[in-house]
Amino acid sequence: MEQTPHKSGFVSIVGKPNVGKSTLMNQLVEENLSIITSKAQTTRHRIQGIISGDDFQIVYSDTPGIIKPLYKLHESMMSFVSESLEDADVILFVTDIFEKHDEGEVVERLARMDVPIIVLINKIDLVKEQEDVVQKIEYWNKILSPKEIIPISALEKFNLERIILSIKELLPEHPAYYPKDQLTTLPERFFASEIIREKILKTYKKEVPYSCDVIISVFKDEGKIIHICGDILVERDSQKGILIGKAGAALKKIGTEARKDMEEFFKTKVFLELFVKVEPDWRKKENKLKQLGYIR
Ligand code: GDP
Ligand code: MG
Repeated sequence: MEQTPHKSGFVSIVGKPNVGKSTLMNQLVEENLSIITSKAQTTRHRIQGIISGDDFQIVYSDTPGIIKPLYKLHESMMSFVSESLEDADVILFVTDIFEKHDEGEVVERLARMDVPIIVLINKIDLVKEQEDVVQKIEYWNKILSPKEIIPISALEKFNLERIILSIKELLPEHPAYYPKDQLTTLPERFFASEIIREKILKTYKKEVPYSCDVIISVFKDEGKIIHICGDILVERDSQKGILIGKAGAALKKIGTEARKDMEEFFKTKVFLELFVKVEPDWRKKENKLKQLGYIR
């Protein structure tokens, strides 16, 4: 009997902020690895999610949305996008039915690349005029000449099977890069900090969440319980006050919600402590960005 060859490779998910890249990756790997909010710039790192079968392994990279950098932090975020494009065997370019066509540089770069591209037109569940989708398909065919264009709804899991079939067609023959039961390349601490950051993004308005990041200072698995300490960095004293709230109420709420999600994610009890620390201009400081994992 002839065996089907084993295929594996790296698949980069790229596109502008808010088009649904993280929602898509979580659905494809069937796990909440990437945090999702309605705010732009929710994803700050390259987040790898791995899915394996008997004869294949796909290593997805979810990436920050493509923006023009204002801070050193943004430059690091965009370097994650670049890196993921360099490694890619297949590129999933995610756009949505609302996107205005002003993508600029990245689209030009994609158009020049030899790597096969699949264009995904997301949020198809919100389409009112079928004609809009037809026009989008024509547009992206012209601009990127992709292998395929697939209208999808990441939220409603519409057409995701088609994406997986197309990826498997395009993947090179290669042995698995990681053990078949491995889900991600990132450490547990990373997911603890992301869960806290998600609660901050969802709780506070305007620029407060953008001035925050989280350092996990303690992550200690004590058998029946994991002890986690998180330092929330802010840029100014006023932000510290907002974060803590009246009599500590706001911070307590974040802690409770984050702990619940962590217990689900780590599948065990969690004891979580949060501290707020002022670190002026951390978004512009190289040593802080290093400590936070944005620069290696
Ligand atoms: P990213 O910035 O590209 O990673 O986008 P996210 O995955 O964080 O999603 C941004 C927002 O779009 C969130 O509020 C999602 O719930 C929403 N979203 C993502 N995919 C879909 C979809 O297929 N349909 C609808 N209606 N909303 C979606
Ligand atoms: Mg994202």
